[in-house]
Amino acid sequence: MAEWYDQGCEACRAGILAGSPTTPLPLAVSLEAHAQLRRCDLCEAWWIENEREAHVISGDEARVGFPKHFRQHPNAPA
Ligand SMILES: [Zn+2]
Repeated sequence: MAEWYDQGCEACRAGILAGSPTTPLPLAVSLEAHAQLRRCDLCEAWWIENEREAHVISGDEARVGFPKHFRQHPNAPA
């Protein structure tokens, strides 16, 4: 896994640390993974967040982990 400061941008890292409800923007929840998919408007990073931690994932990983969200939003950016 990448170092914390290599992930996303300053705004989304700060939002994750502060528990911000909007930055990065929550998009979907996976009940299986007990995790939430979030995306930063500024740097376009995908974040996966659970009770313990959060980290950036690739667009492909987001699609695999949250297939329902992408079925509902087929034109979501990669
Ligand atoms: Zn960001």
